[in-house]
Amino acid sequence: MPLRNRLSRQRALCTGAAALTILTAGLTTAAGLITPAGLITAAAVPSQAETDPLTGPRTRLAGVWVGTEEVPKDLQILVLAGHADSQRMAGSGTSGAAVDLQGAAPMDHRMRDELFWNQKIRDAVVNQGQRRGLKIRGYDPGQLSIARASDPRTNWSVARRQSALGDYVLEIHFDAYRPHGYGSGVIPALNRKLNRVDESLANAFGRFPRLFRGGLGGPRRGLSILEIGMLEGTLEARLRDPSTREATIEAIAERIVKALWRGVRPERAKPPKPQPMIKSGPDPESPKPRTLPHPATAEQD
Ligand SMILES: [Zn+2]
Repeated sequence: MPLRNRLSRQRALCTGAAALTILTAGLTTAAGLITPAGLITAAAVPSQAETDPLTGPRTRLAGVWVGTEEVPKDLQILVLAGHADSQRMAGSGTSGAAVDLQGAAPMDHRMRDELFWNQKIRDAVVNQGQRRGLKIRGYDPGQLSIARASDPRTNWSVARRQSALGDYVLEIHFDAYRPHGYGSGVIPALNRKLNRVDESLANAFGRFPRLFRGGLGGPRRGLSILEIGMLEGTLEARLRDPSTREATIEAIAERIVKALWRGVRPERAKPPKPQPMIKSGPDPESPKPRTLPHPATAEQD
């Protein structure tokens, strides 16, 4: 059922409309419990709710899981941009505080601002990751709206396929602004054991409950969601300001890549210096990630 599938997708996570409705009973946080009635008690303020100078507050609803499973040193990592296939439909991501609350123009009229930034971070992570020697590549569905979640080109379909092959699939998101958003953190994949890459990313960004909102569609299909932070305030302002944009994107990407590296090579404290960037193609400022072929569109490309 495409409509039902759509409405159940984790894309709603970042739209905010229903984000305050926490009905999942029995989840634990670092500091307390969600009551059976579904309300967070006053004692449930998570201990990891600290504000990061780059990304803002960590998730106010914190998980207690630990990722201990080792991963191969040649782990294949696939990076997706959240909402890349669901624009102008349910679950298209957050527009951000600047557009919604301050009347700013969208960064790109074809998409919500969240996807605009998700794509920038995805590409920067792939670029930096490859320069640091990670086995990492990106994926783009090639179309901003794909009606059926089961279409082989969607992020979900690719995540299910690649996860089954043992890839680590990471989907980049920005969370909704306050009061709907939760903050930064990882929501790990649900179809495998929690591993050291999950753990390393959670150490760098914070951790959501493993079964956040009852278990989101993406994690059930094998992707780990990374919420960079709420799309508001200083973080959004630095992204939007042309004089700080590139440095902000690169700093976020560097934090992600270092966390990935530590997860893959835990015995090495520091990742190697990145190789010089190889500039090629018509637009070296926005390098395209290496993308996976997807059979459904191979002829159309
Ligand atoms: Zn999102």
